[in-house]
Amino acid sequence: MTQHLCFIGLGSNLGESCDQLRQALCELDRLPGTRLLAQSAFYRSAPVGYLDQPDFVNAAAKISTSLTPLQLLAALLNVERNHGRQRTFPNAPRTLDLDVLLYGDLRIDEPALTVPHPQMHLRAFVLQPLLEIAPDCFIPAIGSAYQALLSCRNQVLEKLTD
Ligand code: ADP
Ligand code: MG
Repeated sequence: MTQHLCFIGLGSNLGESCDQLRQALCELDRLPGTRLLAQSAFYRSAPVGYLDQPDFVNAAAKISTSLTPLQLLAALLNVERNHGRQRTFPNAPRTLDLDVLLYGDLRIDEPALTVPHPQMHLRAFVLQPLLEIAPDCFIPAIGSAYQALLSCRNQVLEKLTD
């Protein structure tokens, strides 16, 4: 079956965030038809949108998968649910957030799924980990991820060491 190269954005700011992310990376590798190819370091970032909540821990993962985009989204939402993710209001704190950043060079605009992820080029906490594992990353309809990161220089990220 055709394998597609995809990038996943991971985030958490409730519970043991680093543990949630480490666990989620293992779970990505166990999804049907899917292999984890690379993972970034973990980064601490300030919340956006709704500010009165803990800092986030973020990372990016590179996978190859034979899942279709909607199958992949469903699988990610299932992993989130297994981590106790509850959806209360937009930008609310979360135990685990898994977003499809890129799916090959596809552009998808469906009610349940927008790819590339619509805000990814505006967020240092997405771009910095992504560039770590994909230095030449190109965001369809946007351009170079590196150029996009240069426009986010005012967003502070702290690289975590374990
Ligand atoms: P956010 O990640 O923007 O804070 P949520 O994680 O609560 O929001 O996701 C809400 C919905 O966003 C999901 O149920 C999913 O259908 C939709 N969605 C659209 N595009 C994507 C994408 N690229 N990755 C993940 N979810 C997406
Ligand atoms: Mg999400």
